[in-house]
Amino acid sequence: MSSSVIDFIATEARFGAHNYEPIGVVLSRGEGVWVWDTEGNRYLDCLSAYSAVSQGHCHPKILAAMVEQAHRLTLTSRAFHNDQLALFYEEIAALTGSHKVLPMNSGAEAVESAIKSVRKWGYEVKGVPDGQAEIIVCANNFHGRTLGVVGFSTDPETRGHFGPFAPGFKVIPFGDAAALAEAITPNTVAFLVEPIQGEAGVVIPPAGYFTEVRELCTANNVMLVLDEIQTGLGRTGKLLAEQHEGIEADVTLLGKALSGGFYPVSAVLSNNDVLGTLRPGQHGSTFGGNPLACAVARAAMRVLVEEGMIENAARQGARFLEGLKDIRANTIREVRGRGLMLAVELHPEAGLARRYCEALQGKGILAKDTHEHTIRIAPPLVITSDQVDWALERFAAILTQDFS
Ligand SMILES: *Cc1c(COP(=O)(O)O)cnc(C)c1O
Repeated sequence: MSSSVIDFIATEARFGAHNYEPIGVVLSRGEGVWVWDTEGNRYLDCLSAYSAVSQGHCHPKILAAMVEQAHRLTLTSRAFHNDQLALFYEEIAALTGSHKVLPMNSGAEAVESAIKSVRKWGYEVKGVPDGQAEIIVCANNFHGRTLGVVGFSTDPETRGHFGPFAPGFKVIPFGDAAALAEAITPNTVAFLVEPIQGEAGVVIPPAGYFTEVRELCTANNVMLVLDEIQTGLGRTGKLLAEQHEGIEADVTLLGKALSGGFYPVSAVLSNNDVLGTLRPGQHGSTFGGNPLACAVARAAMRVLVEEGMIENAARQGARFLEGLKDIRANTIREVRGRGLMLAVELHPEAGLARRYCEALQGKGILAKDTHEHTIRIAPPLVITSDQVDWALERFAAILTQDFS
């Protein structure tokens, strides 16, 4: 069998559901900020698997923890205890200042679990009449791909022809506290929101928005659920993006970088009795909280802190943002970002962001377009100043060209 690039791509196309349209590169190896394709070409990864590989590809300490645990015990199910779960709970609670933890696998599962938990809390603690719970979400949200979650998406691609959907969700504009005040009713149990809208194109809300949101939620006994699956664990230059706003969520969702990209690990964290309403048999997951996942997540959290990745994200993110802002190009409409969660929005007449990403590939950079005109940039948090400068030279070379 030949292993040419064409074969991998053609074979995927022949057998796979076409729910993705990858850039034409076949990767076979990764280390730190770098990945290599099957031809041996090296690229700087400016996507980090949507922030799942924040600790860098194949981090040796996470790898060692995974291999060591895989030799000992991988899965027990929650029918029995294992000797990793308690340690994972203790460490994630200490890191995030949370009281209760529910371990799941994918990010979307964490979102679904939070929805179930806040509804249950609404009926059993807040006193909402059964079946009447309302959850408020934002336009242009991204919370995953399960049926429950896409039902309250506002993107026609995401929800089109997948209905009917579950009721109980109300959509308001992002960044508009007055709209939240207006949408809350006595039956509102939660406001589910991303601190920065990632998939929407790195949309940062106005200053003070989350202070008002926090006050409104507290005043109305509404649980503030922050989806930090992408923004959390150092991506924005702080452990949690909520710290930029000086607030604390009632429920925080983590995923992606919680495993450093080795394994799907997600968690619902709560600062109050939301998770306390779940009783044995009412929720679960065969793989959630398994010893392999716990060992991997423990190592992923440890290296994030021990190796100063969060501080590095703040420092290099500022450098990257400044550098992007210094690029004088007619193609650029706006540059924005916080920490190493960055985006370049192109003028619509400059052509599709996809063309720019393909050109960047030719220069040794892998970045991802979103919503036609935005290039998002999110390298691993271990990136150095030299590597940022190296990337900026290439971004400047491509952004000053016209691909319309
Ligand atoms: C990626 C993401 C999810 C979904 O995570 P999966 O692991 O793909 O299910 C949910 N919310 C946000 C903000 C995300 O970025």
